[in-house]
Amino acid sequence: MFKIVLEKLSSSRPARKLAVVVLCSVFIAQLVLLLPLLWTRYHQSVDSAIEHEHNALQNIVTYSPPETLLNPQGLINDSMIGLLLTDTAGNPVVTQGELPEFESLGQHGSRSRKNRSGSIDVLWFLDSSKGRVLAAARIYTGDIFTVAVVYTLLVVVASLLIGIIAALVTLWGTNRSYIHPVANLTSKLRDSRENSQGKVPDKIDYAESEDLNGLADEYNSLIEAQQRAARQVKVKQQYLEFAAHHDPLTHLPNRLMFEDKLKQTVSNAVENDESFVVFLVDLDNFKFFNDQYGHLVGDKMVAEIGNRLQSMMHDIDLVARLDGDEFVVIQKNVGDRQAAKEIARRVMNISTAPYEYRGFTLKAAVSVGISCFPIDVHGDQDEELMGEEIVNNAAVALQEAKSNGKNQYQMFNEKMRSRLTARISLEQDLKIALQEGQFEVYYQPKVNINTRQVTGAEALVRWKHPTKGFISPEVFVPVAEEAGMIIELGEWILRTACKETRKLQQLGFHTLNIAVNISTVQFTDGNLLPMVSKALKDSMLPPEFLELEITESAVMHDPEEVINSLHELSRFGLGLAIDDFGTGYSSLAYLKRFPVHTLKIDRAFITDISSDNDDVAIVEAVLGLGKHFNMKVVAEGVEDEDQLEFLQTQGCDIAQGYYISKPMPVAMYLAWLRKWPQGVQGVDNPGNVLSLPTHKKRFGT
Ligand code: C2E
Ligand code: CA
Ligand code: CA
Repeated sequence: MFKIVLEKLSSSRPARKLAVVVLCSVFIAQLVLLLPLLWTRYHQSVDSAIEHEHNALQNIVTYSPPETLLNPQGLINDSMIGLLLTDTAGNPVVTQGELPEFESLGQHGSRSRKNRSGSIDVLWFLDSSKGRVLAAARIYTGDIFTVAVVYTLLVVVASLLIGIIAALVTLWGTNRSYIHPVANLTSKLRDSRENSQGKVPDKIDYAESEDLNGLADEYNSLIEAQQRAARQVKVKQQYLEFAAHHDPLTHLPNRLMFEDKLKQTVSNAVENDESFVVFLVDLDNFKFFNDQYGHLVGDKMVAEIGNRLQSMMHDIDLVARLDGDEFVVIQKNVGDRQAAKEIARRVMNISTAPYEYRGFTLKAAVSVGISCFPIDVHGDQDEELMGEEIVNNAAVALQEAKSNGKNQYQMFNEKMRSRLTARISLEQDLKIALQEGQFEVYYQPKVNINTRQVTGAEALVRWKHPTKGFISPEVFVPVAEEAGMIIELGEWILRTACKETRKLQQLGFHTLNIAVNISTVQFTDGNLLPMVSKALKDSMLPPEFLELEITESAVMHDPEEVINSLHELSRFGLGLAIDDFGTGYSSLAYLKRFPVHTLKIDRAFITDISSDNDDVAIVEAVLGLGKHFNMKVVAEGVEDEDQLEFLQTQGCDIAQGYYISKPMPVAMYLAWLRKWPQGVQGVDNPGNVLSLPTHKKRFGT
């Protein structure tokens, strides 16, 4: 028992404190109560010793024969150790033992104490047969004191013992009704926690102490709350898990999950010697779709296509959404390439079926890139790389489908990869070229066919690649368009052309105009107007000397929208030309509404003009249209005098082509202008009536 108590004593600080407090309190309380009692008892003992001696002496003095006084030794006993008797006259009758200091006692019967070696001196008046005698006695109190001290010690020890007993009782009580139940509860809590194995612990069953029931209930209700919270966390985790692996718009697996599935699919295919096909499906012109109808409709469209692809799920193995408008489909055991193409056709059909949304009938077009496992991948690599390769291949095929005009599927082949690699490297080189200014603007003059005077020039960009030499704009402009770099490049061309033309004007050719090609991307970018306005302002070129050439296919892409943009541009006072006219499918109804000033007949029609009757008919028709709509007609690609003469007889206004000059850098253009025999239209040039030389390919540099 003691052991337990002591153990608890050492383990429980509050219990220890409590016991010490009880011990001290009981000890002090007993001392406070008993010590005054002892003190009183000591004095009573001393008083009764004095009383006893006084009575004994009085008896002797009263009843003993006078001889007794002659034998004073008999008057002294154990406690009276000294005696002096005097008669009333003050003469000593008896002097015996240690004498008290009679003088200092006085003669008034009072007594005074002197603590000299535990004795007390007293003075008595005694009645004897011979009259009153004065007795001064010294009484020994040492024994009484010793007894008192011993008592005191006993009291202290007893108090201490009682204090200790009280402390032990306290400890025992505390242990029984406090420490033990708490320890029990704690160990139950610990058990329940340890058995929970990292989960929320179970409720505890505890009925040992009423006092602790409340605590146990509180604990249990905490656990219940915790279990509820844990369930919520679990649901939340499941949701997050789903969200991490699914796309919020279509609820299809996302890229992360697709990558996982792909790994499994490759692994299974390798293990079981199976095949599968990856289809990358990408919406065509999705940006245009978003711009046209807004992002909400764009999202609806994506979600709809996601749904439709998923509805094919019963025979395809996986549909996932990889990016904004890009999906991926995996189909196992397809058989041959023909079967893969059949699936691609189904994917296209299902995606392009009309979709009704709030009164709109929307129709998306998609391109599909296809790659087959295992035939399209290298077998000498690990499975992860195989997975990467097959998706990359499908992306290459998709890119090919896009470059070939979209709305189609393409099966991957190796040639595609090298084309794409070349294109990517060209794109990177273009970026550097833009930073390092590797471009130059060349000028190809245009002349009035009747007067042969120069009217201006078309600005044509040139790229001198540091290692590959000149790269044709027909090669790099489409790449710059696709990569979005044409915006920056186009702006630079426009600013340069305006600036240099203005300089030429200042050098005397003040009516010289300049035609600048504007790509479809620039035209739909939305920033064309401010860009043109800034270029004109910065170069100080009057707007009437600038003409923007926009291809027929660009203006016919979305004629209603284009009409607005063209009107905004023409309000600036600049000229607008439809380039490559005859190659697209212009609607004459629209042509009438375009604020266009010039039609440029595509050079393909001019080249064969002397041999191909169809081309003659087309040129005549274009010239007729121009006249009808009051537009100037420019023939480009004029390479010889015959073509020029033919155009002249047909009433064409302006000619441009190698026969007049190839495109050239600005310095050469200036020199050329200075030398051109017929001079510049609107500029006084003496002797400008010189006719063109008759040799063919005049400036064939
Ligand atoms: P384009 O706008 O139709 O330009 C006329 C093209 O015909 C130029 O080719 C020019 O050098 C070429 N050409 C002119 N006369 C003759 C001729 O007598 N015979 C032959 N065979 N060709 C002739 P270039 O400079 O190679 O440009 C090709 C295309 O690249 C341009 O066709 C235009 O679509 C685009 N391009 C050129 N420069 C720019 C530019 O600054 N911006 C934009 N956006 N596109 C440009
Ligand atoms: Ca052009
Ligand atoms: Ca052209």
